[in-house]
Amino acid sequence: MDTRLKEQPASVAELAGTTTQADLAPLAARAAKVRDLLRVGPGFDLAAVDPRATPGLPRRAVADLGGKVWSRDQVAAIGVHLADQQERLFAQAKVGGDRRRMLLVLQALDCGGKDGTIKRVAGAMNPLGLHIVAFGPPTEEERAHDFLWRIRRALPEPGVLGIFNRSHYEDVLAVRVRNLVPESTWRARYDIINQFENELADDGVTIIKVMLHISYEEQRQRLLDRLNDPTKQWKFNPGDLDDRALWPDFQAAYADALTLCGTPVAPWYVVPADRKWYRNWAVANLLLVAFADLGLDYPTPLFDVEAQRARLVADERGGKREMNSS
Ligand code: AMP
Ligand code: MG
Repeated sequence: MDTRLKEQPASVAELAGTTTQADLAPLAARAAKVRDLLRVGPGFDLAAVDPRATPGLPRRAVADLGGKVWSRDQVAAIGVHLADQQERLFAQAKVGGDRRRMLLVLQALDCGGKDGTIKRVAGAMNPLGLHIVAFGPPTEEERAHDFLWRIRRALPEPGVLGIFNRSHYEDVLAVRVRNLVPESTWRARYDIINQFENELADDGVTIIKVMLHISYEEQRQRLLDRLNDPTKQWKFNPGDLDDRALWPDFQAAYADALTLCGTPVAPWYVVPADRKWYRNWAVANLLLVAFADLGLDYPTPLFDVEAQRARLVADERGGKREMNSS
């Protein structure tokens, strides 16, 4: 596939069916660079991340077309590969007994763009191979168990890409900031989470944790947009303003989660998310390079393809004979 900038944005349909692992390589190489720029490393400072920034964006390409148009084109091109890769993963589990799966954890404050990211990025893939779960305040039943209970039940099966819209991190974010449990309880959770994610990694789960990072001003604008648009008012929750009033506390809680739970097997990525088109492109890249790292082939059939073909062809001749003689 030609991954160079096109004059006309290519539709997914046009590009479909043209993907090979060789086509993937140049896109994956660039995605690896984007991933390096977004990864939370030692000495990370959340306050130093500009929510309007666009790390890794090729400057010349954007100058030609504008970020929005360029991103739409690129996300479509990446999406074709995501669909193909995800099918390979699914096929390996189905036929090869491969336990590998992927888990994308999306965290953000209200209006951070979790839903939009899922729509734009996961939308390119086959729903059969996706397991998307949103976590709200725990139900009574969930509260009767430890905080990871509902998370374990929501994990993707082998071959599937799981997407968490919020996650176990709420138990060291909202729960901490809103003082829902004593400090000793939430403090102990960072280690518990690290151990849990280590276990998942050992069991074949590729974990990609993303914080969509928006600014205080952008959240205000998006909340206003929701209030001003009758078709979006359903997304507004008066409680969002209570959380907004606790903005500095949430930033501090996020900073701790990012640094205390950023491990080699389950790294955190902070995606500047004030620009939706950059956000979509960045997350698409994070998924793409994660798939590329798995080096997924289609499974080799467990049967003799030629023998089955011969059988079918012979059967077809027989079928025709019968139909003709009736
Ligand atoms: P939304 O994602 O906008 O539909 O909102 C879901 C709400 O559920 C957010 O306010 C979260 O902070 C809240 N939530 C999610 N998980 C938990 C949890 N474990 N404890 C308390 N609140 C939570
Ligand atoms: Mg909300």
